Amino acid sequence: MTKQSQKPITTQTPPQSSSIGGKISHNKGLYEEAIENQGYNIFIEKAIKCPCKSKGTDSALPSCSNCRGYGWVFINKVQTRGIVHSMNLKTEFKEWSETNLGNASLTIRDVNKIAFMDRITINDGETIHSQRLYPYHDKRRNEIYAAAIYDIVEMQELYLFDGSDNKLVLLQQDVDYVIRDNFVILDNKYISKNDFLGLHLSARYTHRPQYHVMDITRDVMVSQIRGFGINGDLDMPVNAMIRRSHYVVDEENLEGNLILDNSYLGDDMTGCKIKQPTNLTTTPISNAQVDLAWLDNSDNEAGYIVERSTNNKDYLQLSILAADVSTYSDTTVVASTSYFYRVIAFIADGSRSLYSNISGTTTPV
Ligand SMILES: [Zn+2]
Repeated sequence: MTKQSQKPITTQTPPQSSSIGGKISHNKGLYEEAIENQGYNIFIEKAIKCPCKSKGTDSALPSCSNCRGYGWVFINKVQTRGIVHSMNLKTEFKEWSETNLGNASLTIRDVNKIAFMDRITINDGETIHSQRLYPYHDKRRNEIYAAAIYDIVEMQELYLFDGSDNKLVLLQQDVDYVIRDNFVILDNKYISKNDFLGLHLSARYTHRPQYHVMDITRDVMVSQIRGFGINGDLDMPVNAMIRRSHYVVDEENLEGNLILDNSYLGDDMTGCKIKQPTNLTTTPISNAQVDLAWLDNSDNEAGYIVERSTNNKDYLQLSILAADVSTYSDTTVVASTSYFYRVIAFIADGSRSLYSNISGTTTPV
């Protein structure tokens, strides 16, 4: 006979409540709270199959201005929150491969409907991509530019090919080129020096991690509510397997030209039910106070959330404010420090607007 442990029992599973008949009930509110609090800021874009087709094949047309041969068109960017877990669980050396690194699991609220190939962008993360660019001369705008696959957060290196016998030429940002979203726009001096077709660039830059939905592992999961006078079904969060877009298709738009935006939602309502605050300004009042002001553009907000960062990368929630508030004093700052702020509006169901502009300031000594 095994001797019973003498250790005291400090916790105990509570007895089954007879009133709920032992049924496990899912609490939607708790799931949604977890997504809201633990999740990343993400963008979801709907994937639409491009109707273009190369003659005699099933492939998309490389010259198609809607998809550039990708075969998919991404529309109507919506900002929401989602929990992303890495699925790279196998750590044995033989299992390591680029493809494994790209898998993740995504959990979002059931209001965010997703489908195969929808594009997910994690707005809080940063990752690196290297690609070639062959700039295109837009004669109408008199600009030389090249489109990168992703919106560029920071260009790390941009090299110009200057013949196979010469060293690559490292270009200087704001001197030789500027960045606009996913575009590298070269200085006009390159128009006179070179035929635009001859410019070959290599770019290494940081961007927001981007994924495609590969498999929806849990689509509509319904939890039943019975008892307490309630009878009904509850939609539970959606879970999907997503894969880094590098590893789905490493799509280089080698001609570096524009892809048409087929979104049919206007600029100021990119799928959001609420307009974002704009014109955020910050004023250091003293070494212990920064005042914020913004424009309240919505008439349906339940309130505003103010977020602060010291590196313009990792933002933390500073305060939740009531509706119609358009100023805030941050009295938790310290002297001689740089702070960045952004404000977001939310409505009663928890959905959020896009973020305001980011405004930064430095407190005096
Ligand atoms: Zn197409």
